[in-house]
Amino acid sequence: MFDWTKDPHRRFNPLTREWVLVSPHRTDRPWQGQMEEEAVAAQPDYDPHCYLCPGNPRAGGARNPAYSSTFVFDNDFAALKPGRPHDRFDQDGLLLAESEPGLCRVVCFSPRHNLTIANMDAPGLRQVVDTWVDQYLELGARPEINYVQIFENRGAMMGASNPHPHCQIWSSHSVPNEVLKEQESLLAWRARRDTCLLCEYARLEQAGGERTVEENDAFVTVVPFWAVWPFETMVVSKRHLSSIDQLTAVERDALADILQRTTARYDRLFRVSFPYSMGIHQRPTDGTAHDEHHLHLHFYPPLLRSATVRKFLVGYEMLATPQRDITAESAAARLRGV
Ligand SMILES: [Zn+2]
Ligand SMILES: [Zn+2]
Ligand SMILES: [Zn+2]
Repeated sequence: MFDWTKDPHRRFNPLTREWVLVSPHRTDRPWQGQMEEEAVAAQPDYDPHCYLCPGNPRAGGARNPAYSSTFVFDNDFAALKPGRPHDRFDQDGLLLAESEPGLCRVVCFSPRHNLTIANMDAPGLRQVVDTWVDQYLELGARPEINYVQIFENRGAMMGASNPHPHCQIWSSHSVPNEVLKEQESLLAWRARRDTCLLCEYARLEQAGGERTVEENDAFVTVVPFWAVWPFETMVVSKRHLSSIDQLTAVERDALADILQRTTARYDRLFRVSFPYSMGIHQRPTDGTAHDEHHLHLHFYPPLLRSATVRKFLVGYEMLATPQRDITAESAAARLRGV
């Protein structure tokens, strides 16, 4: 008898149409992996050396205002720039390049240096959601911007340069790879079945419960069946909507609520301020409705078995297929248990 909880198998991700290798028996192997430095130093309310704290000078020379809720500014070291002329070259389809106009912004969640999504209060997080909506609409309305990617890198382990609670918004002319992959899968699913892949998936997970971690009236957090990172989660809206500007006021509160409760579970899992990359996937802003998109967020945390032991995507994963040791079901059970 094949044992799905112990025997090696592969699982299909219908959003990217890629496979992941699952090797649950490997959790028994002796571990000699890297031990990351544990960041235990308590942070102050205000750090005079932080370039995101209110009133402080930034590296680019500007000075932050004495802001009291969220604060948005253009990234001083932006990866994308607006207003450059359009250009493209193509040499035999082998050397292909395009100009990429865009705009990068930083959103401080709060003036308080030592907060995280997990310990912010409901009104504060609602402010953050409102700011995301405003930015999505404002940047998306620019004619050269066709996609607005909102994402947060949390923790030094994920390369976040500053513990001050903040996220980034990179808005670009082209639709990025991961979004395009999902868009093609959502369109193909709809063409074949005339339903929405993520509406169906959210319903299936709510009915089963095996991989659900958190739930409220408007959202459900699950460890996806096809998760790659050990404690990867996806926050999916229960109602079919394609972008955050379509959320009602009540649903904006619900998004703030589920993000707080999901990240608080992460923090409790290994009793550490949990590192992750998180981001919102939604419809492009290229002027078409894109009703095939279904609003969701991904959390990709690197931690594997403690506050200091992380997962690396190397070797077989770089050259062949991503692989995980614990099953999505056992990861969800552990997150539910804390
Ligand atoms: Zn700060
Ligand atoms: Zn849907
Ligand atoms: Zn996605």
